[in-house]
Amino acid sequence: MNNYNVMIIGSGPAGLFAALELERLGVDRVAVLDRRPYPAGGLLNDGKLNFDYRIGIDLEELRIDADAAQRLMGEIREVFVGFPSCRQVTFIDGNERIAALASIAAEHGVLFIAPEQWHWGTDNGKAVVDYLRSRLTKTEFLLGTAATSIARQDDGCYHVSCLHERKRVSHAARVILAAPGRSGAYWFRDVAGKLDVRHNFGPIDVGIRIELNRKFYDPVTEIVYDPKFIFKTSRHGDKVRTFCTNPGGRVRVESYDRFKLVNGDALSGRKTDNTNFALINTVSLTEPFSDTSEFGHMIALQFHLLGGGRPIVQRVGDFREGRRSSRRTFDSIPRHFGVCRATYAATPGDITLGLPARIIDNLWESLKKLDKIVPGILHPSTLLYAPEIKFFDTHFPTDEHLETNVEGIFVAGDGTGKSRGIVGASISGLIAARGMAAKYFHS
Ligand SMILES: Cc1cc2nc3c(=O)[nH]c(=O)nc-3n(C[C@H](O)[C@H](O)[C@H](O)COP(=O)(O)OP(=O)(O)OC[C@H]3O[C@@H](n4cnc5c(N)ncnc54)[C@H](O)[C@@H]3O)c2cc1C
Repeated sequence: MNNYNVMIIGSGPAGLFAALELERLGVDRVAVLDRRPYPAGGLLNDGKLNFDYRIGIDLEELRIDADAAQRLMGEIREVFVGFPSCRQVTFIDGNERIAALASIAAEHGVLFIAPEQWHWGTDNGKAVVDYLRSRLTKTEFLLGTAATSIARQDDGCYHVSCLHERKRVSHAARVILAAPGRSGAYWFRDVAGKLDVRHNFGPIDVGIRIELNRKFYDPVTEIVYDPKFIFKTSRHGDKVRTFCTNPGGRVRVESYDRFKLVNGDALSGRKTDNTNFALINTVSLTEPFSDTSEFGHMIALQFHLLGGGRPIVQRVGDFREGRRSSRRTFDSIPRHFGVCRATYAATPGDITLGLPARIIDNLWESLKKLDKIVPGILHPSTLLYAPEIKFFDTHFPTDEHLETNVEGIFVAGDGTGKSRGIVGASISGLIAARGMAAKYFHS
């Protein structure tokens, strides 16, 4: 059994930035554990970086103000822009076209946010991880090693049981940073429960991914690569927003044990004729049922069943007429469906069978508004894929260093409700590393 000062569970941006900061602060015997053989987490996905504290960062969760967020973002930015394939794709300073777009959106009661954005593309994902890893000279990587449980020992250290190449191995650490991402969120929630780490349920985002011929959305994405439109719906008063736009990109799936969710990315080199983006509705539950994860899982499972194990896709032309899409007419020329060729082979069907009426109302109302701001997006060929669900739902109350109520257990990243994206996850890793260094190693 190895003994570490810090064991970081998860090698996504939260875990890697925590490791970088711990090395910089001189904390030794740090290990990063990941169940995958390659340390990256979501860094292999697309790599759009939003440098705006209103995007993907929850100031209250991180217990920082806008100025502190801006400063931390500057530190993250400095690291990433040192990677040669990371290119700036949205320039906000003095950009009058952004102001014009914001004013058209405001006429329709829609808030438009244009952050400074950089992008490296999925095809550069491995190179960016190698670049970050090359800056880590002392951190030990325990790869292909899944943490299965964590227990507190009498001496106050934590005992982490793991599975490596089907063998049980154990490690001990004085401090744990849990940064397991969304894929490890429920594993950590179970472990946290056994350690008496407090947690509660936050909102989830449920919606669809739109894919359309890029000519309809280029007028916007040429100004802002990943435009953020935020709607408050008049029928239900709910929040809906656009998220993760990929000009010239492809629709992808995220596979979980019991279902698949839609997502999207873009390559830096090869572009498609389409653009895709998510349209998601924030859902909070109160009483008698507040478990938003279970609610999201039920929706995802329903789609899994209806789509025969794949997400469902419906043409706007079919949706408007209240009928399902089918393989027979999916690329119908008389119906103008050939204008947009799907980049992912989802099951043609009816998305209204799997999403609650309130969510469908909200999404359609928002799409109709967006079609007024960007005319043409609701062309009959436009594709609506479902389900796209963001499970940022388990929240861990923490102090300003992201330490939970249990001493020595810190949390960071998307899986613990501290971020929603690469920049936010990286910031949370920095905060946790500074907190643990100050409290446990430099006093
Ligand atoms: C297709 C797609 C495209 C995306 N595009 C973007 C984008 O353009 N811009 C953006 O900002 N965000 C994007 N995201 C989201 C982004 O990937 C995440 O916000 C980010 O990676 C979260 O970082 P994290 O460190 O919290 O977790 P992750 O990056 O998910 O890393 C968590 C790591 O923990 C490991 N792990 C989990 N449980 C265990 C365990 N029990 N034992 C050992 N290891 C474990 C996992 O294997 C994983 O490597 C995208 C996501 C997807 C799926």
